Amino acid sequence: MTGLSDSFQRPINYLRISVTDRCNLRCIYCMPAEGVELRPHSDILSYEEIYTIAKAAAELGINKLRVTGGEPLVRLGLPKLIKMLAGIEAIDDIALTTNGVFLAEYAAELKQAGLKRVNVSLDTLKPDRFKRITRGQSELKQVLEGIEAAKKVGLEPVKLNMVVMAGINDDELLDFAAKTIDEDWHVRFIELMPVAGNGDNALRFVSAAEMRKRLEPLGELEPCLPTVGNGPAKYFRFAKAKGTIGFITPVSEHFCFNCNRMRLTADGKLRPCLLSEYEIDLKQPLRDGVSKAGLKKLFQKAVADKPLRHKLAEGQVPNGRPFSHVGG
Ligand code: SAM
Repeated sequence: MTGLSDSFQRPINYLRISVTDRCNLRCIYCMPAEGVELRPHSDILSYEEIYTIAKAAAELGINKLRVTGGEPLVRLGLPKLIKMLAGIEAIDDIALTTNGVFLAEYAAELKQAGLKRVNVSLDTLKPDRFKRITRGQSELKQVLEGIEAAKKVGLEPVKLNMVVMAGINDDELLDFAAKTIDEDWHVRFIELMPVAGNGDNALRFVSAAEMRKRLEPLGELEPCLPTVGNGPAKYFRFAKAKGTIGFITPVSEHFCFNCNRMRLTADGKLRPCLLSEYEIDLKQPLRDGVSKAGLKKLFQKAVADKPLRHKLAEGQVPNGRPFSHVGG
């Protein structure tokens, strides 16, 4: 294996794969109120096509995969894809990001297929709020059952992602943080990013510094050492806490200089940066019969073109595809 690095010498070893642009929820921070246009099924990569791309990527130096969406568990037969990906020799970590609604149903099968871990979006512990945040859905109970099911089968650590929004769920910061003290909850507080067509997001922004201030009544947060994880979150814990608290700061303190990831959209575009519109199409070349060497070249080109950093702090918001298309 050669190892892959971009033109700024950042090692690239992580591919996030969106398997669908469809989602069973309509979260206010992710989708515009009017919904998003969906791609026809013929535009979506088949599992065989995803496998072919992942295998080529693994031969170039990718060894970590995350499956996401849309909502990955709405796509039929996801454990089959996980099994295919887990069979790729160089891949040593496969994780899933899900809203958790169908997790209880699939946890055991996913584990058996070779999935290692899950991140679950959990933005509130209040059923009525869950309805408001997801625009009318009512499955908080299923999400909590999904989290328990994932723990039970050993898809651990289960990380809980909470997008913090002023006036929506920021009054639950202490409730979520308190859960990390008595239980092995690993909560990550995420700064709200402005997304295409969702102007309200800017008004609801809460910085990680502000979040930390609001957690002070629970005691001092100690940094987790040695550093936990290799993603964008910075982890802390309260003294003697069973769980951890992470902060993800895409807006107040970007983490682009440590970015090690590429993204594959459900319709087969390779995107070097979530927050930049630049993409390279892999689907058409694949369907036109590109060789493995040709596919690898395209992958290498996208890596070489990875931008140094996004410009959210300077107010440059990508206006193109919503997160549910790109794979958040
Ligand atoms: N459906 C899955 C889920 O809910 O986890 C996977 C896709 S969802 C787009 C993945 C993640 O994107 C969510 O956990 C959420 O944290 C993040 N996300 C979406 N919109 C966001 C925004 N405006 N700001 C911050 N994070 C966002």
